[in-house]
Amino acid sequence: MTAESLLSVQGLSASYGAVRALDGVSLDIPERGLCAVLGANGAGKTTLLRTLTGLHRASAGKVLFAGEDITRLPTEKVITRGLAHVPEGGGVIVELTVEENLRLGALWRSDRRDRTTFDEVMDLFPPLVERRNKTASTLSGGERQMLAIGRALMARPKALLLDEPSLGLAPLVTKQIFTLLRDLRDRTGLTVVLVEQNAAGALSVTDHGYVLNQGSVAAEGPSDGLLADDRTRHAYLGF
Ligand code: ATP
Repeated sequence: MTAESLLSVQGLSASYGAVRALDGVSLDIPERGLCAVLGANGAGKTTLLRTLTGLHRASAGKVLFAGEDITRLPTEKVITRGLAHVPEGGGVIVELTVEENLRLGALWRSDRRDRTTFDEVMDLFPPLVERRNKTASTLSGGERQMLAIGRALMARPKALLLDEPSLGLAPLVTKQIFTLLRDLRDRTGLTVVLVEQNAAGALSVTDHGYVLNQGSVAAEGPSDGLLADDRTRHAYLGF
């Protein structure tokens, strides 16, 4: 682990029965880092996020967060340590209002009735303010993704892990969401890990990237370097 890394993943492996989905993955994400995790379908990206947040059990390796070994912590404890996860599709509850969805994000906080975080999160997402009392079913795809991010922020995390926030969104909306993540990092100092199949878009907004292939890290480096690396782009990123 480097001195300044907030999230350090060391030789992490995970399986589904006989299928080895992660095979000795190591990553180091610094505080305030904005980092992309890329790779084709089935490369292990979702399994990585699920294993980091205790939703899937590691078979080997270690996850250190802010210096603490969280490898075997249950998910609610991982959240209270400051690691929040926005799952693929966002996972908002469409029958609940925008405000109710946001408040669910504070469930594990002892001070969940505190208004400050709610007001701060609303400030970050102006489109949600006027929809506050509308059900999430009335939101566009981009607004639902904002709501999912806002809900994760209600836990007051140090780091946010996002699983393919661009899925199903138009290119312009994807760009807005990626820009929003960078602004969020710049304004609040949040550390962001962005899992994406949209490699070109993700690399254009992040500082650093990791490329997974068949459960292992096949390439890593500064995002602009990966963007300029024809061999990596052609072999693993499909553009
Ligand atoms: P995608 O972009 O399609 O979501 P991914 O990079 O997120 O892909 P994972 O979903 O982590 O990849 O899958 C990694 C490997 O684990 C694949 O071989 C996949 O088939 C397998 N896998 C994932 N979930 C399960 C499961 N519930 N049961 C069995 N195998 C699984």
